[in-house]
Amino acid sequence: MTTALVVGAGISGLACAASLHAAGIDVAVAERGRAVGGRMASRRLRDTGSACDGRTVDIGASYFTASTPMYQDVVQDWIDRDLARAWTDTFHVADSDGVLGVRTGPMRYAANAGLRSLLHDLASRLPQVSVQCEVSSVRSDRGGLVVDERVVDAVALCMPNAQAHRIIDASVMTAEVESALTAVTYEPVIAVTLVFAQQCWNDFDGMFINDDPVLTWVANDGSRRGDGAPVLVAHVNPVLAAHHLHDAPSVVPLVIATVSRIMSLGQLPVWTDAQRWTYAKPLAAHREAFHLQADSMLGLAGDAWADGPRVETAWLSGHLLGEQMAHLLGDSD
Ligand SMILES: Cc1cc2nc3c(=O)[nH]c(=O)nc-3n(C[C@H](O)[C@H](O)[C@H](O)COP(=O)(O)OP(=O)(O)OC[C@H]3O[C@@H](n4cnc5c(N)ncnc54)[C@H](O)[C@@H]3O)c2cc1C
Repeated sequence: MTTALVVGAGISGLACAASLHAAGIDVAVAERGRAVGGRMASRRLRDTGSACDGRTVDIGASYFTASTPMYQDVVQDWIDRDLARAWTDTFHVADSDGVLGVRTGPMRYAANAGLRSLLHDLASRLPQVSVQCEVSSVRSDRGGLVVDERVVDAVALCMPNAQAHRIIDASVMTAEVESALTAVTYEPVIAVTLVFAQQCWNDFDGMFINDDPVLTWVANDGSRRGDGAPVLVAHVNPVLAAHHLHDAPSVVPLVIATVSRIMSLGQLPVWTDAQRWTYAKPLAAHREAFHLQADSMLGLAGDAWADGPRVETAWLSGHLLGEQMAHLLGDSD
C-alpha cells in the first residue's frame, strides 16, 4: 500500500492527513509536541489561586475566520456538534492612551473547550497520529524518501518554513524548495495570560491596540469561551517580543502596566503566565496553496502558503496538498 507521512499535527498537517486518508492512502502523522494543535494551543489553568483553576484558555491563535466554502463545511460540522461557535464580528480598537471605539469585520469563531479541542477532533478521525515523535531528517536514498529511518512514498512537512528547513537534507533540498522556504520570515509573539479575581473591565470581546510598543491585541477569554471568566490574554508587540524570547516572563510587568492603563483596570491580576511563540505568524505568505516536488513527493504546507497567515489558510493549504499528493500517488500505483 502507498504510504505517506505528514510531519506536524497543527491544523495544516491534520487537514493534509485527512485528505490523504479520504483518498485511501495509508497515512501517519508525526508530531513532536506532547499533544496535537501546534499554534492552536490551549492550556488548562492550574494553581492560579482563583476560581479559574481547571478552566481552559487559548494561548496561541485567538480565533479563526471561515470564508472558504470548503473550510466552512468543516466549521459547520464543529458547530453542529457543539465544538465551535460563532464568537463575534466586533472588536474594540485602542491606542496607547485608551479605547477609541469598535470595529466590525468578519465573523470570528472560537471553540468551547479551546482551539486545541478542534484538532483533537480532526486527529480522532485519522488512523495513526503519534505525539512526542520528532522527525529529525528527510532525505532521499536510491530514489526513495527516507524520514529518519522510515521509507515512505511521500512526505508532507506542515509547519513553519524555518522548522521545515532544519530537517530537509541536502539530498532533497532543491533550489525551488530552498527558495520557497527562505522567502517567508516570521514574527514572534509572547502571549501573556492574566487571571483576575473578578472582571474589572467594561464588556468587550477582543481589542486591537494600534501603534503601541508593548501590546498589539487583548482577548477577553471569558467572552471567547462563553463562561464570562475574568481571564485576558494579551499579545506582545513583535519587536518587544523579539527582545524577550529568551526570557518571556520578563515582559509581564510591562504588559500588566499597559493593559491596566489602556483599559483603566482597577485591579491587578492574581496569576500570570507568558507563552513564547518564536514563529508566530509569517510576515507574508506565498499565493500558491502549497509546494509539492512531484519527482521526490516532498510537500510543504502551512500558514506560509495559500495567502495566509491564518488558521483557515493553513487548513486550506494542508487540505489541498493532501488532495494533490493523493492524486499523484494514485496515478503512480
Ligand atoms: C500568538 C498567536 C496568535 C495567532 N492568532 C491567530 C488568529 O487570531 N487567527 C488566525 O487565523 N490565526 C492566528 N494565528 C496563526 C495560526 O495559529 C496559524 O496560522 C496556524 O495555527 C498554523 O497552523 P500550521 O499547521 O500551519 O502550523 P503549526 O500550528 O505551527 O503546526 C506545526 C506543527 O509541527 C510540529 N513540528 C515542527 N517541527 C517538527 C518536527 N521536526 N517533527 C515533528 N513535528 C514537528 C510543531 O510541533 C507543530 O505542532 C496566531 C498564531 C499565534 C502564535
